[in-house]
Amino acid sequence: LVEVRGLTKSFGDLHVLRGIDLTVARGSVTVLIGPSGSGKTTLLRCLNSLEVPEAGTVRVDDVEVDMAARPSPALLRRLRATSGMVFQSHQLFPHRTALQNVTEGPVYAQRRPRARAEAEATALLAKVGLADKAGAYPHELSGGQQQRVGIARALALRPRLLLFDEPTSALDPETVGEVLSVMRDLAAEGWTMVVVTHEIRFARQVADHVMFMDGGVVVEEGRPGDVLGDPRQERTRRFLQRIL
Ligand code: ATP
Repeated sequence: LVEVRGLTKSFGDLHVLRGIDLTVARGSVTVLIGPSGSGKTTLLRCLNSLEVPEAGTVRVDDVEVDMAARPSPALLRRLRATSGMVFQSHQLFPHRTALQNVTEGPVYAQRRPRARAEAEATALLAKVGLADKAGAYPHELSGGQQQRVGIARALALRPRLLLFDEPTSALDPETVGEVLSVMRDLAAEGWTMVVVTHEIRFARQVADHVMFMDGGVVVEEGRPGDVLGDPRQERTRRFLQRIL
């Protein structure tokens, strides 16, 4: 579903991505791990054109963008529409209810009829275990519940791909599990997911493919049992020792 070749991205003199290749099969879960500053978030943001890389190609399904060829804003919007992003902190609108937060994108960005968008949003909130919280405002919800609204909001845009940027790292330990459990369900349903996370247990259980990034390159990748259980590279080994 996703094919990335030779992606490079700098911020000034800082080369954050130095030629990233990434292939994501439809229906698979890819987990990106690596130290802080290694470029994981930037890679996710490039996948849905929140950042525009200097060079490389990104293809998601039938949308292909050659980043060096000054892609048009319309093409970048098409690329963005292929994926739904779940951020580290939920970024919900504080003065809108859970239901309104989930309905906003389909109604305003995608111009879908409100009644249908609301019916769909209600079903999505039920799917993430929040049927009884549709009328609640973000401050009335726990961090884990807010993050689950964030997942429902991403799903409401009917993306082909879900991107998660450290979705549990800002949560209290007791609410991490409920968010990971929703993500497990999505994976089991066959969603294509790219997940940046430090939750190694989740990666072991759910990932089809694990990539270890450091210094803007992919140092090692493969099946979770290999990369996490028996890494070949010294850098991967040191990283895992530090976080486990
Ligand atoms: P973390 O786990 O801390 O989120 P990461 O691997 O996701 O790390 P990135 O967030 O991709 O790393 O950041 C890579 C580097 O790029 C960092 O040094 C960061 O400071 C820098 N960076 C990211 N975004 C910008 C920006 N908009 N302008 C300047 N520098 C940036």
